[in-house]
Amino acid sequence: MPGQFVNNATPEERKLNFWERLYLPEIFKGLGYSASKMKLDSYAFEYPEEQWYPPDSYRGRPVLVEEQGRPRCVACGLCARSCPPLAISMQAHEVTDDIKEREPEWFEINMLRCIYCGFCEEVCPEEAIVMSKEYDMTFQHRDEAHFGLDKLLIPKERLTDRLSFLERRRNRQFGEAWDYQEENNVHTLRNRLDYLAGLEEAVARADEHEPPNTEIVDEAAAAA
Ligand code: SF4
Ligand code: SF4
Repeated sequence: MPGQFVNNATPEERKLNFWERLYLPEIFKGLGYSASKMKLDSYAFEYPEEQWYPPDSYRGRPVLVEEQGRPRCVACGLCARSCPPLAISMQAHEVTDDIKEREPEWFEINMLRCIYCGFCEEVCPEEAIVMSKEYDMTFQHRDEAHFGLDKLLIPKERLTDRLSFLERRRNRQFGEAWDYQEENNVHTLRNRLDYLAGLEEAVARADEHEPPNTEIVDEAAAAA
């Protein structure tokens, strides 16, 4: 059966006037509107010379926080477990010269898999992985998208915007009572300096004491 012409126009529908039926005035009106918007250069950046600086809430590429020259990360693996596209992998190793005892031997994020969801940041008990403001990444080869510790570690001082944002806003769904404070950190990064100072003090104290006089000890043993 051949198609049929159906007019769905309702009687209330506005009828085009004479100029609108000509179309050309409307076309020039539209072109004029576009031209007027072109003058507003605030909508466009001359990238990459000009770049957008995102707000603190922005989720750019995830990075690891470096504090006092070391990663905050204790290689617990929670971020890797919670990462939906399985972009994170790591290997832990023990450290004896720091209070936290564990560090990642290697840590890798596949940036081609990362979907910038921020789950890793949400679950990290150490605030060791946070979302940065970096959004422009290009790769020539797939292997370049595997970011290791060398690219992931960013000094804490350069992440203060995000860290203070997290302190203000993190996990608000649990209410105001849950308030992340660095000094409550279970692995006591707060004490790292105290801990290292304590070690130095203990070594200095041990050096100050004279070694025991072995002759006196031997004589006492012979008399007994
Ligand atoms: S932002 Fe999301 S996808 Fe990217 S590494 Fe973190 S958890 Fe994985
Ligand atoms: S959750 Fe935090 S501390 Fe645990 S492995 Fe990931 S970045 Fe490191």
